[in-house]
Amino acid sequence: MSNKYDVIVIGSGPAGYVAAIRAAQLGMNVACIEKWKDKAGKGVNGGTCLNVGCIPSKALLDSSYKYHEAHSNFKNHGISTGKVEIDVPAMIARKDKIVKQMAGGVSGLFKANKVTSLFGTGKLLANRKVQYVNLEGKEEVLEADNVILASGSIPIAIPVAPIDNDVIVDSTGALEFTEVPNRVGVIGAGVIGLELGSVWTRLGSKVVLLEAMETFLAIMDQQIAKEANKIYKKQGLDIRLGCRVTGSKVEVTKKGKEVVVTYTDKEGKEATETFDKLIVCVGRRPFTDGLLAEDSGVKLDERGSIYVNDLCSTSAPGVWAVGDVVRGPMLAHKGSEEGVMVAERIAGQKTVMNYDIVPNVIYTHPEIAAVGRTEEQIKADGEPYNVGTFPFLAIGRAVAADESDGMVKMIAHAETDRILGCHIVGPSAPDLVQQVAIAMEFGSSAEDIGMTVFGHPTYSEAVKEAALAVNGHAIHMPNKKRRK
Ligand code: FAD
Ligand code: NAD
Repeated sequence: MSNKYDVIVIGSGPAGYVAAIRAAQLGMNVACIEKWKDKAGKGVNGGTCLNVGCIPSKALLDSSYKYHEAHSNFKNHGISTGKVEIDVPAMIARKDKIVKQMAGGVSGLFKANKVTSLFGTGKLLANRKVQYVNLEGKEEVLEADNVILASGSIPIAIPVAPIDNDVIVDSTGALEFTEVPNRVGVIGAGVIGLELGSVWTRLGSKVVLLEAMETFLAIMDQQIAKEANKIYKKQGLDIRLGCRVTGSKVEVTKKGKEVVVTYTDKEGKEATETFDKLIVCVGRRPFTDGLLAEDSGVKLDERGSIYVNDLCSTSAPGVWAVGDVVRGPMLAHKGSEEGVMVAERIAGQKTVMNYDIVPNVIYTHPEIAAVGRTEEQIKADGEPYNVGTFPFLAIGRAVAADESDGMVKMIAHAETDRILGCHIVGPSAPDLVQQVAIAMEFGSSAEDIGMTVFGHPTYSEAVKEAALAVNGHAIHMPNKKRRK
């Protein structure tokens, strides 16, 4: 094996593996180093996303939603079933099979693109040299013209609720329960809390989310966040805002192990709750442990992310960094696009990434999806704007499907009508928002979407109507303001 490559990528999550494949497509000799091991101790590609993130969480969300449909919703359609039961180990085994298939897919793509896949740990030394220690502990030094760091992120730990991987778990442990817990506590009502909280609520757990902030989903458009909160409440999620956890104690009782959580509520009063499982999901932090030699030349910023410019160049020449380990939202698709940009830049192309149009999704039911700026951000930026909203309750397809919770909100510049943001809670929200993202990439106005012919009956008609409503032209709803 040669120890000289055009490009070495450290980390094979969605940022790293996409960078590696794109660089190989562009004719470069690429190696990708990955230290992740599967449950059997074998090296595996795919990073957080495929192994313990996006894909396994969606597998459980889909399984639990099917159970919920059969258990609670089929009867609305006149369908009766026998007793509907959930086999948790079978659900988890299905999830594991999907993970294996998807992670194996990355290795297959590496082979097809002639990317050298190395399992073990990579450490950046000075002058684009990389120390590689394989899974058996054998060490060698590799060299490259360019190195791409894609080492990702890990869950933030809090001392008041130390993970024991039994009763107190992080997002990874919450994908491995072997039975439905009666009572689940969640610290942090963010993306993971809502998604995994939804899984276990649908399967019958009583789920309480303790959130430190007084504002629910502070980064989302607040009109949509409020609408979503109402829907979650109806589903039984008990979301308590302004709660600060002060301690937790695991106790063994006759019923088994449980955890007593103490917290101060919104009014500052002390309170306690007892749970069978506690999921800690208070955010993730960039992961650079053991990644950088002292003289690597790569600097970190004040949040511990690898410092990069808009093109993902680090402070060391020929060293790039992409994905969760750099600034910006910790989203798989954001990292992948950075990976493509960097590979193409290395190949001499002028690729740039549009950070203003990165969709964001929360996979509850219904889903929340957003692209562009929120109304709060646009207001703070001092730009004049118009808003159009449209409820799914007035969309025939949504009513027919029993999916009429939620709404579309479109925001456009008041003078140019250019779309500034679109925020949706409702059926197929991610796919609908993606249509608007494409329109935004082409500089579309709300009128452009309003003039586009949409198929009927579809959920997407809510997007057209919200776009029409921006200028007071919605057809299937009275308009608050009518402009010519
Ligand atoms: P990672 O996927 O974290 O990959 C980094 C890789 O680098 C890891 O495999 C790690 O082992 C390896 N590595 C680190 N250091 C070294 C080293 N020194 N040597 C060798 N290898 C190393 N995002 C979405 O967009 N949509 C979702 O639906 C979504 N759902 C999620 C659900 C959960 C439960 C979680 C936890 C996350 C979810 N995310 C989701 C976030 C998404 O998983 C991350 O944004 C994404 O995985 C980041 O990609 P990355 O390539 O930057 O890093
Ligand atoms: P998050 O930032 O979405 O939510 C964490 C929440 O915990 C916040 O609301 C925060 O206010 C709260 N919090 C922080 N400290 C707390 C404390 N001590 N007590 C109570 N609440 C506290 O983070 P997450 O849910 O852990 O997810 C991590 C990241 O993973 C996300 O930022 C996201 O980028 C990514 N992710 C994305 C998806 C998706 O795209 N669908 C899904 C899962 C995860």
